[in-house]
Amino acid sequence: MQHFPIFIDTAGRRIIVSGGGEAALAKLRLLLKTEARITVFASEPGAEIEALAAAERLTLVRRAAEPGDALCVALFYAANDDDAEDARVAALARADGALVNSVDNLAASQFITPAMVDRDPVTVAIGTEGAAPVLARMIKADLEARLPVRLGPLARIGKAFRKAAEALPLGAARRSFWSDYYLKSGPEAFDQAGETGAQEALETLLASHLTQAPCKGRVALVGAGPGDPELLTLKARRALDEADVILHDRLVAREILELARREALMIETGKTGFGASMSQAEISALMVEHAASGAYVVRLKGGDPAVFGRLDEEIEALDAARLPWQIIPGITAASAASAAIGQSLTKRARNASLRILTGHDMEGFAEHDWRALARTGSVAAIYMAKRGARFVQGRLMMHGADPETPVSILANASRSDQRILATSLGRLSGDLEAADLSGPAVVLYGLAPRAAEAVLPQLKEEQA
Ligand code: SAH
Repeated sequence: MQHFPIFIDTAGRRIIVSGGGEAALAKLRLLLKTEARITVFASEPGAEIEALAAAERLTLVRRAAEPGDALCVALFYAANDDDAEDARVAALARADGALVNSVDNLAASQFITPAMVDRDPVTVAIGTEGAAPVLARMIKADLEARLPVRLGPLARIGKAFRKAAEALPLGAARRSFWSDYYLKSGPEAFDQAGETGAQEALETLLASHLTQAPCKGRVALVGAGPGDPELLTLKARRALDEADVILHDRLVAREILELARREALMIETGKTGFGASMSQAEISALMVEHAASGAYVVRLKGGDPAVFGRLDEEIEALDAARLPWQIIPGITAASAASAAIGQSLTKRARNASLRILTGHDMEGFAEHDWRALARTGSVAAIYMAKRGARFVQGRLMMHGADPETPVSILANASRSDQRILATSLGRLSGDLEAADLSGPAVVLYGLAPRAAEAVLPQLKEEQA
């Protein structure tokens, strides 16, 4: 991030615009929304700027900017529609200690003006560091359509009521009051009776929230999916929006954690699969402690929480503490992996069953019905496979599996750094070692990437 977004308090500060033409006017239209004192330097100001000066919306100085003009100024815009003049005044302003923007010249600017969605006091600033103005405009258009105009007045009225709302205890109770106002009673009252309606709605709402029983804590055991944030369920997304505390595994992608409510307390439990760095007992204790104190706790796990997620141990702890819980399923690694290679996990006349197994569990290598798995046409998704690959391969071969059985290894399935390794049972551990994959990997035993499928039997014939 080369440009860091901040909101500057302009009340009573001075902002200078150098220029009297179109570029200056475009900036002035934005700046006049602020509470700053605006001065324009222009030897030939256009009619609209003259009119703004006459209406005392700004101070007009009818000459070009000179050294010393920008002393104690908050922001300086070089907007002369003339590169040489922009460079000259920008240098002067910088020497005076002002923060300078040279219009349409990213390299010569110390700050840039973002695309804005204005629902004052709610403002959304969109920047792409000059990379894609088109994208910024698209996002702006999208938000303009999505954020109703009444949001501005609603937020203004809400802001004035913040002190009164402190009568509610901090945390879930106060949050539920505000979300009720912004999502439901506020807009309804505003549409019916305008600003007075919204004000009255706040009073009524506060009275009713003050008489409600205190919120009880609860826990959602949520699947975060394989990594791509778009593979989150809507329920998971909402849980992340509402959580007070989020306890997440290391496996959960950063892009997903960034969707969480800003005020949520984030705790990394450090677990990847069975390699715990915080003990299971510690995780359960944390979950219980926060929920018991009234928080909405989201226990976020990679993939689906019910697949190698040690779900039962956590549920037992919650039951013992008599805390309500709910499971929100997620897309498991096997589903993301089969999607990535364009294959179905089950197929008529090939496999009517699918096995989900781990190469390695808490006790070490995990035993399975190898004989059944070794049969032609078997399909299995093998989790935590990196550690157990050689073992699984040995067991299957020992039980008569064909070394040419196709195997796909998916690392970081669904993420931008996804890797697909197409191999066979015979070459599994060697290829896996050579590929030196980083990140979580799942093995799809019995499935080749669809494109490679046609090639594999042919290879086999050639080798025979
Ligand atoms: N609950 C998770 C599994 C947790 S066990 C799920 O349903 O997916 C951890 C194992 O999951 C990893 O060792 C790896 O085998 C697999 N895994 C999780 N996310 C993955 C991903 N994005 N790509 C490949 N494998 C993944």
